[in-house]
Amino acid sequence: MEFVVQKFGGTSIGRTSRMKNVAGIVKDTITAGEHPVVVLSAMSDSGKKEGTTSRLMNAAREAINDGSYYKIIDQIESHHLNVVNEIINDLRIRIQLEDEIREELQKLKSFLDAIQVIGEISQRSMDVIISTGEKLSARIFSALLNSMGIDSDYINLDNLVDKPFKEIDKRFCSYLQKKLATLIKESGARIPVITGFFGFVPNGILKSIGRGYTDFTASLIAVGVKANELQIWKEVDGIFTADPNKVASARVLKSVSPAEASELTYFGSEVIHPFTMEQVINANIPVRIKNTFDPTLEGTTIIPGKGKQEVQKGPTAVTVKRDVTLVNIQSNRMLMAYGFMSRVFDVFNRHEIVIDLISTSEVNISLTLTEHQNLTPAINELKQLGEVTVRKNLAILSLVGQGMQHTLGIAGEMFSKLAKEGVNIEVISQGASEINISCAIKDKDSDRALKAVHNMLV
Ligand code: ASP
Ligand code: MG
Repeated sequence: MEFVVQKFGGTSIGRTSRMKNVAGIVKDTITAGEHPVVVLSAMSDSGKKEGTTSRLMNAAREAINDGSYYKIIDQIESHHLNVVNEIINDLRIRIQLEDEIREELQKLKSFLDAIQVIGEISQRSMDVIISTGEKLSARIFSALLNSMGIDSDYINLDNLVDKPFKEIDKRFCSYLQKKLATLIKESGARIPVITGFFGFVPNGILKSIGRGYTDFTASLIAVGVKANELQIWKEVDGIFTADPNKVASARVLKSVSPAEASELTYFGSEVIHPFTMEQVINANIPVRIKNTFDPTLEGTTIIPGKGKQEVQKGPTAVTVKRDVTLVNIQSNRMLMAYGFMSRVFDVFNRHEIVIDLISTSEVNISLTLTEHQNLTPAINELKQLGEVTVRKNLAILSLVGQGMQHTLGIAGEMFSKLAKEGVNIEVISQGASEINISCAIKDKDSDRALKAVHNMLV
């Protein structure tokens, strides 16, 4: 069978009209002779912040804090029931689906009641709570396909992991790939509609994979069934040379290399979950980013092996990551000494703070971090090691491109463009792979800086 794995984001299926639209995309894929394997995120009526997963996480918080979580669950219920009501004409299927949704959410309420009594929540309990979102969306979508005459199976991955694993490593992933392939093959000619949530992951899915985990699930499936392509359907035309909301001349890239996609994703573009790439690239499966609102567009393909051949010289794209804090540690103890860096990183490690850029000299380490983390305890510990200064409201500007490798003058041009705009550079960092030149700048300069540097691409 010619499998193509199609993962749809929450906003793409968040309302009746959008779900129908996605069902049309799946139907067209079948007509074109391929066998779609559908992986779904939880429904988002108007963007991720208002989406079901976010609501479920809020409900969990309310339960711990003696708040009104029933209200949130009722809101989720009425949204899903409304969609069912509008989408499914067959009375028997509709009533059954409504019962299943009510039952699912009733179970969740009881679970949250227990959480409220205990007053705390484990990673695993959090997983149980958020898994509800994908279960609801996949159930509804599978029923929709059936009602359109497309035979489909709802596949819930709640209990996919049936052996103890300590870490998300190669062994864990290949175990899952095989299990998923077996599950999907059992569906035969029917179209599998799979929950993008799978349980139970070592340390919990939110902590070890994070929001956007459905991309990762889809990639495991794609490798498992040896898909021709993994399609990540979103609400954007593809990967752009820069954020099109900020830079009018930004354009969609036809293809990028896996390394470029990873850099762009990390530094602000939120294209695809970072873990996804590793899976599919090793298995030589291309990933295509497509727009559900305009399926005729080609999108952007992440091509395994691209970058190994000859690529066009110069940068590919530029991104900005906002809400960045700069921490600077100055100490003479660093001079000619070993072990100092490891003490610094140990502090961040213990406080579970993620570091983005690092730049060092003999007496100084500068690091950038994402702002919303509580830094105070870590900063107090760092003060034992040296003089610490913290600067907030910064942004990281990153110029990315496989074609920047071994090309002279790119950093020079980037910095002179910034200088011309009067943008001061706080920290500079370039990895030895030479596919990313990043610098920290003031957040208020970021739009101007983005435009100026984007000029290098056109
Ligand atoms: N539904 C989850 C979230 O909102 C996972 C995903 O979308 O991939 O983060
Ligand atoms: Mg997502």
